[in-house]
Amino acid sequence: MNNILVYCEMEDGKIADVSLELLTKGRSLAAQLGCQLEALSIGEKLDGIEKELARYGAHIVHLADDARLSPFRTLPHAAITIGIIKAEQPQIALFGATSIGRDLAPRVSSALKSGLTADCTSLEIGDHSDNKGNTYKNLLYQIRPAFGGNIIATIINPEHRPQMATVREGVMKKEPAGAPKAPEVRKVNVAQYLSDTDFVVEILERHIEERKVDIKNAGIIVSGGYGVGSRENFRLLFDLASVLGGEVGASRAAVDAGFADHARQVGQTGVTVRPKLYIACGISGQIQHTAGMDQSAMVISINTDAAAPINQIADYTIVGDLNEVIPKMIKSYRENSK
Ligand SMILES: Cc1cc2nc3c(=O)[nH]c(=O)nc-3n(C[C@H](O)[C@H](O)[C@H](O)COP(=O)(O)OP(=O)(O)OC[C@H]3O[C@@H](n4cnc5c(N)ncnc54)[C@H](O)[C@@H]3O)c2cc1C
Repeated sequence: MNNILVYCEMEDGKIADVSLELLTKGRSLAAQLGCQLEALSIGEKLDGIEKELARYGAHIVHLADDARLSPFRTLPHAAITIGIIKAEQPQIALFGATSIGRDLAPRVSSALKSGLTADCTSLEIGDHSDNKGNTYKNLLYQIRPAFGGNIIATIINPEHRPQMATVREGVMKKEPAGAPKAPEVRKVNVAQYLSDTDFVVEILERHIEERKVDIKNAGIIVSGGYGVGSRENFRLLFDLASVLGGEVGASRAAVDAGFADHARQVGQTGVTVRPKLYIACGISGQIQHTAGMDQSAMVISINTDAAAPINQIADYTIVGDLNEVIPKMIKSYRENSK
């Protein structure tokens, strides 16, 4: 059985979170398929990185280590990735839907004529029978919202390999393997894949914008929607978040209305979060919003409308005006945590 390969992205000498999330998912898909999980890491000074990749389940680690391969440049990384996929023939190849993955994966899939599903929110294994009587076993179900998020599409690729998908950061869980084993390390002879033309693009200067707001890693998120009413009213949510030691999120309607900054937007076109606690204040719960938070461990909804769709996924619903409920929550939390 051919293996599953994950392109592992590097960020400042560390493996990107999205790659560890993909290894975690790849590990469970590989167990289902009875195949091995391969990690491909391209960069410089990669010695020792195989341990971390194995910790998340990689059985085989390909290390393409060369000073010219860091920082990321499309052409050399694509040449090596294409070369490794041609040599290894994985049945599935996964990439993060980051700026690097979105640059690399289409180039690789087009060179391999394999097809690619971008921005998957779920990956599963399943069978498919077509109307010509063909049955395909153990396909990768590449699941993602389509038509503006109004339907969830399951996309398959029965005839071409590898089956390729990108997945956004934060969508899958990142969990070390229970009993990791020492991986098989394969040092890539990079020279065989590279040519001078892969280096025609020269990096003169890199500017990495600092992320000021990080809701992705927050354990508690107090999130506000259009029902919050104004940017000034969002102050209430910041107060509650500060008391609870959390961050403030927002719906797109709140962001579009100027109540909150885009970096705080949760949902299909914002950030995907999975905190321990998500408090949705004045958010109706449209699918494009819930797609970004429905994996939260606990959801509390505060809404004047008892029939708001968010209440269907909430563990606790408070039907009421957030302007009255939130100050009471802050007061009660302060009193009880003295
Ligand atoms: C392609 C596409 C992508 C999208 N991507 C995203 C995305 O990433 N994230 C996202 O959030 N949306 C996204 N949307 C928009 C989404 O469809 C909804 O329009 C949006 O989520 C609605 O935001 P809301 O719940 O804040 O506003 P509304 O739907 O207007 O809901 C406001 C809620 O507040 C309640 N309310 C009002 N006053 C109070 C009060 N005083 N106290 C308590 N409750 C009150 C109301 O009962 C209501 O339930 C996308 C849409 C499209 C088409």
